[in-house]
Amino acid sequence: MTFSELGICPEILEAIEVLGFETPSPIQEQAIPPALSGADILGLSHTGSGKTLAFSIPALESIDPSVRSVQVLCLAPTRELAVQICREVDKLALFLDGVSAVPIYGGSSFGPQLAALKRGVQFVVGTPGRVIDLMEQGELKTDSISMLILDEADEMLDMGFQEDIDRIVAMLPEDRQTLLFSATMSPAIRNLVESVAGAPQEISIERPQLTVPTCEQIVYEVVFSSRIEVLSRLIEMGRMKRGLVFANTKRVVDDIVDGLLARGYAVDRLHGDMPQTLRERVMDSFRKGNLTVLVATDIAARGLDIDDVDTVVNFELPRDPEDYVHRIGRTARAGRKGRAVSFIGRRDFSLLARLERFVGVRMQREKVMTGTQVEEVRRESLVDEILEKAASVTELPEELNDIDMPVEQLLAAMFNLLVAKTSRELQPIPEDRPSKFSRPSRATDDAGTPVEKGNDWSSLQQSVTLFMNGGKLLGLRPKDIAGLFYNEGGAPKGMVGDIRLFLKHTLIEVSPEIAPQLIERLGTCHICGYEVNVREDKGRPTSVGNEPHEREFRPRERERRGASYSGRNNSGIRRERDARGNSGFLGRREAYGRQERSERVFYDKFSKRPRRRD
Ligand code: AMP
Repeated sequence: MTFSELGICPEILEAIEVLGFETPSPIQEQAIPPALSGADILGLSHTGSGKTLAFSIPALESIDPSVRSVQVLCLAPTRELAVQICREVDKLALFLDGVSAVPIYGGSSFGPQLAALKRGVQFVVGTPGRVIDLMEQGELKTDSISMLILDEADEMLDMGFQEDIDRIVAMLPEDRQTLLFSATMSPAIRNLVESVAGAPQEISIERPQLTVPTCEQIVYEVVFSSRIEVLSRLIEMGRMKRGLVFANTKRVVDDIVDGLLARGYAVDRLHGDMPQTLRERVMDSFRKGNLTVLVATDIAARGLDIDDVDTVVNFELPRDPEDYVHRIGRTARAGRKGRAVSFIGRRDFSLLARLERFVGVRMQREKVMTGTQVEEVRRESLVDEILEKAASVTELPEELNDIDMPVEQLLAAMFNLLVAKTSRELQPIPEDRPSKFSRPSRATDDAGTPVEKGNDWSSLQQSVTLFMNGGKLLGLRPKDIAGLFYNEGGAPKGMVGDIRLFLKHTLIEVSPEIAPQLIERLGTCHICGYEVNVREDKGRPTSVGNEPHEREFRPRERERRGASYSGRNNSGIRRERDARGNSGFLGRREAYGRQERSERVFYDKFSKRPRRRD
């Protein structure tokens, strides 16, 4: 199939030729013809499938260049994606005279975006928050919009944009065409599709499997300082005969190698600063089985082509999901079984959720093995080794011939001696201690079956602290927050622990197992009429005073997460419309008083008590 067979106009075909694309991808092949003929589409396809072209081409063709008003509105979850889509649209519109596109997103000034709208741009790609702001200000007129596109709809729902999308859709002409794209299907997406597009034509593109099913993917929550010990325990339990350990920097690679060498393991390193000849020597040694563990950075491991790595360890999670796929692709090759073990810290939950979404696999949460467990496994494997050896031994060594002692006694002494000789004194780590989180587990697996104790983090009785940028000043009470977490966040009963309310923020302890879901669902959410954000608590920055977390919510940070920043005060809090539809933001001064005043004054001002005179 060629692009010209899809019924695309000559100007866009010319642009596609300039871009160098020769054949349409499956999503383009299946979505472009019906979309060109005016059908609503639900495209289930992942990033990298060519979906941007699949919706941009029909969208551009639907535009009448002589009409200088917005005709296509495309919503995207993040600023980066909005900009990227706009770039592709610009390239495709190279030979379409009088057609232009603009990205609109929060966290940047309104000026250039308003100027583009006034100039008569026809294609708007925006994040929901800023789109609503401009619509409500009357700057983004909706009457000529004939096509709505929702890109990465699942991501938008995960980020809490459902309400914003509903508000935008309510302002659009009903006879518009709707193209909705999502990487995953869920009941929430199904509802969204029904409400915005009715019964669209459904196109589903199978994603190539990124990881192989024979590779077990396991996650341990381990503080950074315990990781070398946990790695050693993995080796000692005989779970790593030929392991590849990945770290993000050369310095960490060196630390791991030093730590393992000090414990007596056969280990070496690979990183970019090593001369090629040395690297080749190390790789050769690993290939020949002279090393139990090879520790490497992503770049250094590129040339490594070894089939029988039994375990890959992510000592640190990679930032880029592609790197995760490359790393764990070193094990479970050629139909063999393999394991990928990832160490994560408390701050890695959202990154872990992103990786899981990318590979489309939920990783198995496991408890770090305690010293006693390691000891037991070690003794068991010694017995196995002895039995294996015994099978080939037929004669008693001469030295033992004349010993007059019961065989059991002799055997026990030999075994104890062997245990003592092969044992390493285990270093105690915080993960060995039972944790303070004491709520009962209600965990279920993907199929809804209760997870057995010992398999899941909840049974570890640990907790993760989440941060919410609203507190007593908004009049919040613990029960409001518990309600939000259980009802909106979908936390199973008993998974929310202590709720500590401060003036402008709240810290909420939750079970680690439910934390990623809560961060996703409550990333941007509403409580008692205020829009707030929930995320993992990053702790106190050193340079800040009483209410440190407020400072962390800078526009950049929020925008990176895709939320529009327009019209919000410096704490990222925006007031909802009241019952009469009067909007109005709770201004910074109105809410907290001037920044330089003390917290006491802010509180008085907010609660409308008489203000203290300065
Ligand atoms: P997307 O899924 O839209 O994010 O597209 C992923 C990448 O594939 C982008 O870099 C596109 O430029 C590229 N791409 C889109 N369509 C084609 C095609 N038909 N042939 C080759 N590359 C394409």
